[in-house]
Order: sequence, then C-alpha cells, then structure tokens
Amino acid sequence: MGYTIYPLLLGEVEVDYSFLVWQTNCGQATYVPATAFLILGADRPVLVDAGFQSPERVKAYSGLNARQAPDQTLEAQLGKHNLRPEDIGYLIHTHLHLDHCGLDYKLTNARIFVQRRELQYAAAPLFPVAFYDRLDIARLVNDLWNQVELLEGDAEILPGIRTVFTGGHTPAHQMVYVELDSGRAILTGDAAYIVEMNVRQQIPFGYYINLEEVMAALKRIARDGNYILPTHDAEVHRLYGNGLK
Ligand SMILES: [Zn+2]
Ligand SMILES: [Zn+2]
Repeated sequence: MGYTIYPLLLGEVEVDYSFLVWQTNCGQATYVPATAFLILGADRPVLVDAGFQSPERVKAYSGLNARQAPDQTLEAQLGKHNLRPEDIGYLIHTHLHLDHCGLDYKLTNARIFVQRRELQYAAAPLFPVAFYDRLDIARLVNDLWNQVELLEGDAEILPGIRTVFTGGHTPAHQMVYVELDSGRAILTGDAAYIVEMNVRQQIPFGYYINLEEVMAALKRIARDGNYILPTHDAEVHRLYGNGLK
C-alpha cells in the first residue's frame, strides 16, 4: 500500500514495572515512552493516538509522574516531517486513556475515530483513578464532536488500515493493523506493552478490565503481526525510529 509508519515520542510516563508485566519487578519504577504513530502514504497524514496534555495533568488524573523534553512536543515531532498538527487528516484512537488523546484539540482538521463504547465508558468509568482525563473526554463530546466518527467493532478506515477490537485493557480498546509493502504492522495501543514479555512470552500486563480479552488479543498479536508496535515499548523507537515501510 506504500505506507510508512513513524513513531513519534511525545514524552514519558513513570509506571511500576508490574504495570507492564504481571507481578514482575514489583516496586521498580520505570519510565516508558508515550508514543503516537504517524502514517504517511494516504491522501492525508494519519495519526494513531495523540499523547498526553501535560505532565501536570497526567499526575492529577492518574497519580503517575510524567515528563516531556522540549523536542517531544507534537509540534516538534511532526515538524521533523514538515507537518503541523492541522495537517493531520485522520486520528485513530486505540482507547482514550489520558496518554493517548491529550492533544486531540490541536488536530483541528482530523476525523477522529474511536469506539462508541470507549467514549461512553470514559465519561463515567467504574472507579476513580481510571486514567481518563475529564477534559479530554469533555472536548470530544463538545468542541470536537463534529470531528468524531464512532465505531462499533472492527472497521476499515483507509485501504490497508483497519481497526481490530480487543477490549481487555479498557472496555472497548482496539488495535490498528497497517498493511505495509513488507508485511503487516500491528499498532497495539495498550493491548501489549513490552513485546518480549507480553507477546513473545504471553505474560499479561498488570492493568486491565477483562483478562480473557487481554490474553485473546496477545495470542492474536503473536499470530497476525510481522511487526509489533506498542505505545509504550522503548524498543519501537530504537527499531523503527527512522520509519517502517
Ligand atoms: Zn491505556
Ligand atoms: Zn497508554
């Protein structure tokens, strides 16, 4: 299909290692990247997820520390590709946790794709520290509402770019499959954190709503993906920082 995928580094979030790999290295704080993925080769640029608003808001709505270097802003990261936020034509959300949709409001010309049930759940989650920032969700249902495209299950967004429902991590989490000239890339979102541990060894991560759905998705990722690109695995930047075709 002629697509190229670029990981954009939009800051880092500090989590306990056991958040990434079930009951492993408990108490060990680890900074992980907050990645968005830029896909070039369609009629307009595509973004998968959109980082957090600010380290302060991550702290306020999750209790987690976060940091962002000056070159990790959306403007700086897109600038490397001679793009501005308003050039993005499509924004696909894996889910609406605050490290995935904090900068939607800058993407003024994007169609925003999200599962209906994810948006519904994000507005009224089942427990208080649920990693949704109320301002992100309020913007989606108000300021950005006319840009929002609600999905019900799997969907083809563009030729060779489709969403695959997983649930598991959140009630209506989804992944993005991208057909490249060299094979299929899976942008897993938070359906996997660390490829080696979660996918290769099939050990689940530590934060989920439904463990059976988590395990089904991890099997599916291992089966379907030639390239596996989670949001929070630093390896993605090392392996694919210069683009994956
Ligand atoms: Zn998440
Ligand atoms: Zn995340």
